[in-house]
Amino acid sequence: LMNQSMHEVIDQLHQDDKTHVWHHLTPGAAAEAGLPMFVEGEGLVIRDSQGKEYLDASAGGVWVTNVGYGRKEIADAMHAQLTKLNFFASSMAGVPATKFAKRLLEKMPGLSRVYYSNSGSEANEKAFKMVRQISAKHHGGKKSKILYRERDYHGTTIAALSATGQTQRRAQYGPFVPGFVEFPHCHEYQSQYELSEDKSYGVRAAQAMEEVILKEGPDTVGAVILEPITAGGGVILPPEGYWQEIQRTCKKYEILLIMDEVVCGIGRTGNWFGYQHFDIQPDIVTMAKGVASGYAAISCTVTTEAVFDLLQEEAGDELGYFRDISTYGGCQAGPAAALANLEIIEREGLIDNCRIQGERLLAGLEKLKAKYPIIGDVRGKGLFVGIELVTDPVNKAPVADAITVGIAARCKALGLLIGRTNRSFTAANNILNMSPALIATDADIDKILSILDKAFELETTNE
Ligand code: PMP
Repeated sequence: LMNQSMHEVIDQLHQDDKTHVWHHLTPGAAAEAGLPMFVEGEGLVIRDSQGKEYLDASAGGVWVTNVGYGRKEIADAMHAQLTKLNFFASSMAGVPATKFAKRLLEKMPGLSRVYYSNSGSEANEKAFKMVRQISAKHHGGKKSKILYRERDYHGTTIAALSATGQTQRRAQYGPFVPGFVEFPHCHEYQSQYELSEDKSYGVRAAQAMEEVILKEGPDTVGAVILEPITAGGGVILPPEGYWQEIQRTCKKYEILLIMDEVVCGIGRTGNWFGYQHFDIQPDIVTMAKGVASGYAAISCTVTTEAVFDLLQEEAGDELGYFRDISTYGGCQAGPAAALANLEIIEREGLIDNCRIQGERLLAGLEKLKAKYPIIGDVRGKGLFVGIELVTDPVNKAPVADAITVGIAARCKALGLLIGRTNRSFTAANNILNMSPALIATDADIDKILSILDKAFELETTNE
């Protein structure tokens, strides 16, 4: 409970924020209206400077805080490491980096090397550089193109944006890096193919990638990057048969499969990794958010031994190794946090909990769908779900932006934080998403559902 001077301090902070901080993804009007200042968190609950509490079903706004807020154990592990040794550039064997790599790879059969950096974008940049160097060393520079899928997001840096299938997000930031080629999305609910009797939607959608490979010339394509489940593009689950066809095509043309697990990785979907739902074997896997649940900035680019071998120097070839560094890949706090994070997930059985609670959440959403006709589709895996809002279930046209924004705002007013697509990134702003921390209980899920129910009721009756 705040006294007068604490109020004054907080008012001043809000003023200074408006004057000095340039916020991510925030239009001026929203910042001018005043943003919440979150000051404390515990588990799934986050509190703002006015003392208002929210149940956070967005994992920190962007699918990050997998083990929840307020984990002293992670902070302690970082403190212990930082007071012992904070940093040395990555050409040194670090204790937590070595321990975490070993533990992580136990979860990823078939993969054997961990390359550290600091953000999802950067992890993807590393993957692109590996592909480009493999092309330079082994294919005379010819096999350098990288394919990406419409609606997928791979990051904010110029090359990662060049590999991003969201026109609105890219607009104004070109020219882009050459050699990135788009192929169509696989969102079955917004079907874009006439199917013949013998072909499933998944197979047809995956063949759209093969068509692009054939058009570009298979010997010019080095890799394809995909999200296992598209996150920001609208929680899009791959249709049945999709991944098998993608994997088959990659093998056929010797194209590396890069899996962007920046969102799905480390438990989010009820498996250690999203790709592990689909019985496929990627060559490169990138991950970031859940790696340390937001306690430290750390990302990983994980590869097979074959990829690693292709980038080792041969006798007399001093330039042959991977000529890349990330300064803060040498910060010891990241892997210390990642190791503590992984131990929490194991000890508390959070992967199983995520699967069980994800089913509870999805079952509840199905009930809401039956109740509110503007809910066209609900979908998800583990504690990673999306709700697609449409004007009617038959033509599936997106609702007006104001409805999606309105429901998210009503949830917030009722004390629940959820995410949504945004028209400045994607073609339509009609998909809500939720990703509570993997520690969610029955009571948390039921509370999320009851607040959502209320928000839909208020929005659809226009109260
Ligand atoms: N890949 C995916 C699938 C993402 O969702 C994101 C971030 N939302 C990124 C990459 C980029 O990660 P970062 O913001 O850490 O650079």
